[in-house]
Amino acid sequence: MKRLKRPVRVFIAFGCNIGDCKKQIETALRLLQKGIILKRVSPLYPSKPYGVENQPDFINGVAVGYTRLKPHALLRFLKSVEKQVGRRKRCRWCEREIDLDIIYYGNLKIEGKELTIPHRDRLNRDFVIIPLAELCPTLLDPIVKRSVKELSLKWKR
Ligand code: ATP
Ligand code: CA
Ligand code: CA
Repeated sequence: MKRLKRPVRVFIAFGCNIGDCKKQIETALRLLQKGIILKRVSPLYPSKPYGVENQPDFINGVAVGYTRLKPHALLRFLKSVEKQVGRRKRCRWCEREIDLDIIYYGNLKIEGKELTIPHRDRLNRDFVIIPLAELCPTLLDPIVKRSVKELSLKWKR
C-alpha cells in the first residue's frame, strides 16, 4: 500500500456501549498503533445514546496521533480494527462493541459517499467536541475556524 512521505495528524473518535467497553477500547487503541502513532488519548467521556434511544449508555473519547495512511486507507484500517475488536453489523447509531470515526485529518476537507472529513456531525456532538477540547483546546476546526475549546462551551455553561 502506498503511504504518504510525511505523517499527518489525525483525531479519531471512539465509542462503545455493549460488552466490556473499557477492555474493548483498550484493545482498539492497541490495534490502532499498527497504523497510527498515537500520541495522546482524552479522558473517557460517558454519554447518553445518540440518534437511537433505548440502548445502554456510551463511553466515548478521542485519540490523537500521526499516520502515513491516506484518508480512504485510514478508513479501511479503522474498519478492520472495529472488526478485530468484535463489532457486529447493526443499524446506524445502534449498539456497538466499538466505533472509530475520523474527525480531522490534518486540515483536509473531503466530501464523498464513503468518507467525509471533517466528520459531518462533529459540531453537534458533546461526546466528540468536549474530549477534543480536553486533548487540544487550541485546535481550530478547519471549516468553522473556531477553536474546539470555544465550540465546547455550548455544553459547559
Ligand atoms: P456516524 O457516522 O453518524 O457517527 P456511525 O459511526 O454509527 O454514524 P457507521 O455505521 O459506523 O456509522 O459508519 C457508516 C459509514 O460512515 C462508514 O461505512 C463510512 O463509510 C462512513 N463515513 C463517512 N465519513 C466518515 C468518517 N469521517 N469517519 C468514519 N466513517 C465515515
Ligand atoms: Ca460514529
Ligand atoms: Ca463509524
